[in-house]
Order: sequence, then structure tokens, then C-alpha cells
Amino acid sequence: MSAENTREPDHICDVVVIGAGPGGYSAAFRAADLGARTILVDRWPVLGGVCLNVGCIPSKALLHTAFIIDAARGLAEHGVAFANPEIDLKKLAAHKDSVVKKLTNGLAAMAKARKVITLQGTGTFSDPHHLIVTSEDNRETIVRFDKAIIAAGSEAMTLPFLPSDPRIVDSTGALELRQIPKTMLVIGGGIIGLEMATVYSTLGARIDIVEALDGLMLGADRDLVAVWQKINARRFDHVMMQTKVVSANAEPDGIHVRFEGSNAPEKAVVYDLVLVAVGRKPNGNAIAAQNAGVTVTERGFIAVDKQMRTNVNHIFAIGDIAGEPMLAHKAVHEGHVAAENAAGKMSFFDARQIPSVAYADPEIAWAGVTETEAQRQGIAFRKAVFPWAASGRAIANGRDEGFTKLLFDAETQRIIGGGIVGIDAGNLISEICLAIEMGADAIDIGKTIHPHPTLSESVGMAAEVFEGVCTDLPPQKRR
Ligand code: FAD
Repeated sequence: MSAENTREPDHICDVVVIGAGPGGYSAAFRAADLGARTILVDRWPVLGGVCLNVGCIPSKALLHTAFIIDAARGLAEHGVAFANPEIDLKKLAAHKDSVVKKLTNGLAAMAKARKVITLQGTGTFSDPHHLIVTSEDNRETIVRFDKAIIAAGSEAMTLPFLPSDPRIVDSTGALELRQIPKTMLVIGGGIIGLEMATVYSTLGARIDIVEALDGLMLGADRDLVAVWQKINARRFDHVMMQTKVVSANAEPDGIHVRFEGSNAPEKAVVYDLVLVAVGRKPNGNAIAAQNAGVTVTERGFIAVDKQMRTNVNHIFAIGDIAGEPMLAHKAVHEGHVAAENAAGKMSFFDARQIPSVAYADPEIAWAGVTETEAQRQGIAFRKAVFPWAASGRAIANGRDEGFTKLLFDAETQRIIGGGIVGIDAGNLISEICLAIEMGADAIDIGKTIHPHPTLSESVGMAAEVFEGVCTDLPPQKRR
């Protein structure tokens, strides 16, 4: 035991959870529901972690507003024209904050109802059974625990050469919505960068995007992204692929940015706001894991087995800190598994699929194996595509650019993956998730009666395309 732990512990518990993001609070609540005396520690004063406070939820509140503004603009083509919207930025930011507050208040109430003790402060291990929680005013609280669940999440990566300037922000800064810049550079063509670029462009900013690699949203199949790019061709001024930012100087008239690469402008370009969205790094090095004997990789991840156990049997890790994909719903499911094992049950994380969604407009969603991945891995598969140009509902919506794609195992004909691009793809993908988990084949999906006219019909129809029996498309060649 280290010197700190010669002091009597302030709290003794069955399970301590470090980090109150979606993984952490779900684990704590599950552990408490199973009868464990549970303590939930977070350095922030509110529960919810990145997702609720500075991630999924505030970004979706703003994306919803952006979607309505764009949809209203689009109605001009249907003969209904609105005046340009007047944007009260303070009120919009307050609305977003109120959405977050409603959810974090709800979490606090649920923690209380379960008698989960919440401690505010930074948690660091002092040995395999003690956590020191240090508050902002440096007061130390010692927690002795039987089991620990590490759910300390991740944080935005930075580019070390960028100067410190309020006009250079990460996603948290962008979500604060301090100003609508005239010109904005988004560094990074991943989902987070493009979601924020969508919001700011709808609010009136002229936007450039720079991406070091040869594609946007690289986890998604290229055919899905191609539809998004076509619809968004005029939304952004320059999308510079295979190009890097090499320097940035903060000057009174803006941030002067220099680029290098295939699509780099020759001269420096001046921006009012620069968003750095180049990925997130796990917080594995911020919890003194070594004092508990927990191994952390160089990048800050903590390796776990299917029970979410680290190399130390009674210490678990979940969520962003436990590996890719860094997504809230993965964290939640892992949290449940860890909590169940910590409470003495036998539970495994054996998901067949973890869906991903880009909530930019149109949405892109995929689940299970992607077509790119299937090809790379040499998986024998067959695909079926239903174009939304043949969907009555998509046409009625005036948004028929999308499509629904299903991938089936060539031998068993069971569904192994799927992707959707189009409005509401993030909601529609759930049926594909369930079908993969249930081991459904094309007949199961195609013979399931879907309501008409809906976009969800496109999933059933894609399965019918696979079977060669779709009557909403021209006759198919019989297989
Ligand atoms: P986190 O949510 O990162 O929470 C970790 C918590 O641990 C934090 O509250 C932190 O304060 C606390 N902590 C860290 N170290 C310590 C310590 N030493 N002591 C005490 N507390 C500590 N995912 C989706 O699935 N869908 C989306 O739409 C989506 N949108 C996103 C948008 C943005 C802008 C961002 C940034 C992320 C988004 N994500 C989204 C990702 C999602 O937020 C994360 O995958 C998710 O929050 C991970 O949950 P977690 O529980 O692992 O950790």
C-alpha cells in the first residue's frame, strides 16, 4: 500500500467507476441495480461525460436545427418560400445547453434513485484496491474498492504546432457557438469535423475542409460517401483531400494557414475560425493505472478481454479507453458487461455488429461488415441495393438521393452487413442491426411486412432485390 493509503479510506465500496460518460454511468447504474455498493467518480461536476456534455447530444441538437433550416430552404422548390432565417446565436446556444441540462439532471436523479454515490474529482489509482479522488481545491478522498471499472474516455487530439488562440478550437469549442465566422477551416474530414462543418455552413459560414488522407469519413463505404459528397458539392468552398496543414499564425485579421499536399493552395489562407477535428486519444495515461498494475498501451488504450477485464482480474475497462470504435452505444454495452461481471455474474461482450452513423445531411449509417472490409478480408458475399429513387416516401420527401444496401453471406445467405445513405439513415439502420444479431436471411427481411410508405421499406425491398422478387423496380434477371 502506498503512503496515501496508510490513511483510513473515506469510502468503502463494492464497485468504483472512474468516469461518468455513457459507459461509466451505465456501468454504475447496472452495478447498483445488481445490488453492488457503487461509487461513480468524475472530474466534471455533471454526469454524462463527453457524449452528453460536449459530444453526441449538443451536436445533434445543433444538427437538428441545421436540418430544419435547410429543409425550409429546400421547400422553395415546392412552391413554399420562407425569408432567410434570423439567427439569435445566444438563444440557439442556450437551447442546446438546455437540452444537455435536461439530460444531465435526469442522470443525477437516476444516480440518486439507485443510491449510487457520486464524487467529483480526478481519480487516480494508488494501488490495486484504492483510488484517490482529488478535487479541484486539492482535497483528497480515498476510496477502497473491491472491483473497479475504468471508463475515463478520450479527449480531442491537438496539432502541436498550432498556436493557442480562441479562434482555433476543438469540437468542444465549436459546440460553444461563440460566433458564426465568415470563413472557417475544418481540419479533419471525419464524422465529427463534417457534422460541425454542416452546422456552421447552415448558419452562414463559408467553409474549407482539409483532410490528410484520400477520402472523407473513411470508415464508411465509398458508394455511401459519394452520395453525401454529391449532395454537399456546393455546401463547402474547398474540400482539400491528401493535403495537410503545416503551419498556422494567429494575426489580428485571422488565422493564416499554410497547406502542403495534392490540393494545397499556394499561399496562406486566412480564416476567422479553425476547427481541429483530427481524432481523439484515450485517457489511459491519466489515471495512474500503473499503481494498480493495469497495462496501458503507448496510445493510451487499455486492452480488455470479452468480459471487459484488464490484465488485472478485478479491474475492468470500457468505452473509448478500451478501444475503437469510439462510440457511445459501444461504451454503454461494454459498461453493462463489466458491471455484470463485477457484480459476480458471467457476461461477455460478443456483439456481431456495432453501428456507426454520420449525422451530417444526408445521414450515412452502416452496421456489421462494410463492403470495403468484406472485400479486404476476402469474405464471400453478395450485395443487394435498393435505390431510394424508387421509394415513394423518399420521392414524397423530395429527398430520393439515397440508397439502402445489404450484404449477405454467399453461402448461408444470412445478412452480414448493411449501409444506408439518406435522411434518417441513423434511425433506419437499427433494423439491419437487429437482423444481423438475429442471424436473419434475405427471406426473413423481405417477407417482413414493412409499413408503406416509409423509408424503412427500403430495407425490406433491398432484401427482395437479393431474392430477385422486388416488384418496385424493373424486372430483375432471375438468379
Ligand atoms: P466519455 O464520454 O469520454 O467520458 C469519460 C468521462 O471520464 C468524462 O466525463 C471525464 O471527465 C471523465 N474522466 C476522465 N479521466 C478521469 C479521471 N482521471 N478521474 C475522473 N474522471 C475522469 N458517439 C456516438 O455514438 N454518437 C454520436 O453521435 C457521437 N457524436 C460525438 C460528437 C462529438 C463532438 C464528440 C467529441 C464525440 C461524439 N461521439 C459520438 C463519441 C462519444 O462521445 C464517445 O464515444 C463516448 O462519450 C465515450 O463514452 P465513454 O463513457 O467511454 O467516455
